[in-house]
Amino acid sequence: MTDLLPQLIPDFDLSARNTLALRARSRFGIELRDAAALPALFEEAARLDLPVRVLGGGSNVVLAPHFDGITAMMALSGRRVRADEGDAVLIEAAAGETWHDLVAWSVEQGFGGLENLALIPGTVGAAPVQNIGAYGAELADFFDSLTAFDRHTGKQRQFDRAACAFAYRDSVFKHEADRYIVLSVRLRLSRAWVPNLNFAGLADLADGGGVTPRAVMDRVIALRMSKLPDWRVNPNAGSFFQNPIVAPAEAAPVLAEFPTAPQFPQADGRLKLSAGWLIEKAGLKGFRMGLVGMSERHALVVVNHGGAEQGDVAALAAHVKETVRARFGVQLHEEPVFL
Ligand SMILES: Cc1cc2nc3c(=O)[nH]c(=O)nc-3n(C[C@H](O)[C@H](O)[C@H](O)COP(=O)(O)OP(=O)(O)OC[C@H]3O[C@@H](n4cnc5c(N)ncnc54)[C@H](O)[C@@H]3O)c2cc1C
Repeated sequence: MTDLLPQLIPDFDLSARNTLALRARSRFGIELRDAAALPALFEEAARLDLPVRVLGGGSNVVLAPHFDGITAMMALSGRRVRADEGDAVLIEAAAGETWHDLVAWSVEQGFGGLENLALIPGTVGAAPVQNIGAYGAELADFFDSLTAFDRHTGKQRQFDRAACAFAYRDSVFKHEADRYIVLSVRLRLSRAWVPNLNFAGLADLADGGGVTPRAVMDRVIALRMSKLPDWRVNPNAGSFFQNPIVAPAEAAPVLAEFPTAPQFPQADGRLKLSAGWLIEKAGLKGFRMGLVGMSERHALVVVNHGGAEQGDVAALAAHVKETVRARFGVQLHEEPVFL
């Protein structure tokens, strides 16, 4: 082992490292503070014949009770204005930075753009993995490029936007989770800021003009705090199911029964439905199954009522999917990753 590689910590407790607060341990844990340690980490993992997985803020995972491998906690830090391009700025942040801190920092610097994505938990490095989005914006809207470690070659590689294959809550990093580790992300923020207020709860900010990125960020924070249960109080992983995007024929039975059901036409002719609405209409808002349940405040959120493990969450998720499928014929898919 080289000096670059910090000590592997045996029998590492991850219960406080996932926002669902699931009971979870890893055979080894390691804090990754230096990207230069990655080759040594994989050499050591090969020597021990153990798999390696990466964990950020643990806000989009359903962790197994025991992982027989090495969990590398992403702790690379640093953020900066990398280039001032006149009409735009290029900001860069390391993968272990907290996403919301980056948003707040960019707004404080006077740069607009990221404010609709305020208060999304987790790290900068995980943000491209599922192309995080909220309040009518998504990471891809501001994305310039990123640097990732390629486990296959043992080298760093640059990704531009096309190479990331961003889509709704999706990217190449989700599909090749065993290959790439995001190390740093670069975002381009235009100085010609146009507020994005096309979302319920934001539109009135346009009244009277003079709206600022700060005002939008504050509103987004207030809205999120009023709608979503606080994971520190009621452990959860945010939205547990993706909004289903279905063919018009698949949506027809729902819309025949509920013509005013939330529906968002997509460029390819399909319709995005609201997973939360479907779950609520299926009678599952506040539904409880043992140690876990659907939140009483938000039908889309799975809450750990205390002491739950991955299997409890999986059983609840299966029940919700089956109930919605039987009631509406629509298939839901989980958003968090089972690791
Ligand atoms: C209360 C709450 C609200 C939320 N609201 C939203 C929302 O509005 N919009 C939204 O999009 N999401 C939302 N989420 C989900 C979550 O915040 C995001 O998916 C976030 O990007 C996850 O970051 P993380 O660092 O916690 O990732 P983790 O949960 O630690 O990891 C998620 C996945 O990414 C992988 N990963 C982590 N870091 C890296 C890396 N550096 N390189 C490669 N792979 C990596 C992990 O292996 C895992 O597969 C919410 C979650 C919670 C708890």
